Amino acid sequence: MVHPSGFTPACRRPESSRDSLPSPFRTCEPFARMDSSPTNLPANQATADARKGRLVDRFGRVHTSLRVSVTDRCNIRCSYCMPLQVRFRPRDEILRFEEIERFVQIAASLGVNHVRITGGEPLVRKDVPLLVRKLSSVPGIVDLALTTNGILLTQQAAALQEAGLHRLNISLDAISEENFRRIARRDGVRRVLDGILAARRAGFQRIRLNAVAMRGITEPEIVPLAHFAREHAIELRFIEFMPLDGDGHWNDRRVLSGDEILEALSAEFGPLTPAARPDPSQPAVDFDFADGLGRVGLIRSVTAPFCGDCDRLRLTAEGKVRNCLFATGDFDARSLLRSGAGDGEIAELIRNCILAKKAGHGADSPEFLERPDRSMYEIGG
Ligand code: SAM
Ligand code: SF4
Repeated sequence: MVHPSGFTPACRRPESSRDSLPSPFRTCEPFARMDSSPTNLPANQATADARKGRLVDRFGRVHTSLRVSVTDRCNIRCSYCMPLQVRFRPRDEILRFEEIERFVQIAASLGVNHVRITGGEPLVRKDVPLLVRKLSSVPGIVDLALTTNGILLTQQAAALQEAGLHRLNISLDAISEENFRRIARRDGVRRVLDGILAARRAGFQRIRLNAVAMRGITEPEIVPLAHFAREHAIELRFIEFMPLDGDGHWNDRRVLSGDEILEALSAEFGPLTPAARPDPSQPAVDFDFADGLGRVGLIRSVTAPFCGDCDRLRLTAEGKVRNCLFATGDFDARSLLRSGAGDGEIAELIRNCILAKKAGHGADSPEFLERPDRSMYEIGG
């Protein structure tokens, strides 16, 4: 049943993923601070801010960043994301480009100014440069980025650049073919590496590499990935493995922590120094290499969540609005978009979604029992 606010709660995830967290994960400062934070606004204050047109939640967080998933499909099967046996949504459930454009226009009128196109793998959807062109001309959008696994970048980088895309995040978890295949359960590392170089040739200046860090898999890749990133003057970020895998195999022992990665990098390159942090809402904590050649970011989403500064909301491929990766429910924008609702009604749905946002995801806590009903590819990372 759909709640009058548009909220649909979701069901629980399997027991297998509910291992308790080891002690280093238990004392998470940022998350512990969140619940007692003085920024925890009274509901009527948050509602008043929301009425003024800004997307401010009950904890004073202003939401300016939107992730738009354009598909749940993908051309590889990363074990940390998608199950091997997967059923994709029927195409008529997926938002059309015009619907996405309208949603983004409404979100922009509420103060959203950063948009990231994601998926599933966004580049498997036909004509994504066309969507890029539409979104890059939405008034108020100052930053338009896309996250891709890079497999199809060689063919599409020039068209994306020409359409007005500002930035690219490219996932690269391994340089070795064998490890890539082990993670992605498909071949493709050569195509990704070629795609990265094609993006450079197409003129993209702002490219980041993202690697998910999993214990028992990522360790031998840390140093080669860093060498590759430094050689090509590309920023590299490691993301702690989050409990959002379709197979439901996540447990805390499989998380390779940011601290462990830093240790491995320091052993090879010398001590890294923390970089300035101009934007507190950025999920990564950056470190500079001792010789000044490049920078590495650590996204400690499990061992040190950054929920206190979160400014993000998400639109799933089939038009559900979600206020957190770990949300256990969502708000149905598609039914409004397809039933002749006015912009005001859709804006109200987005505000309700933000007002329902929790202080933090709690994946660092021993009480973290409820995984979302969706895996990463069904949400949009
Ligand atoms: N297919 C594109 C890609 O892989 O870059 C975009 C979608 S993917 C879901 C977005 C990002 O989420 C990728 O950087 C991916 O590595 C990351 N991701 C997926 N599952 C994850 C998990 N369980 N924990 C941490 N990061 C994850
Ligand atoms: Fe596909 Fe990206 Fe998920 Fe990997 S992380 S399976 S590339 S959607």
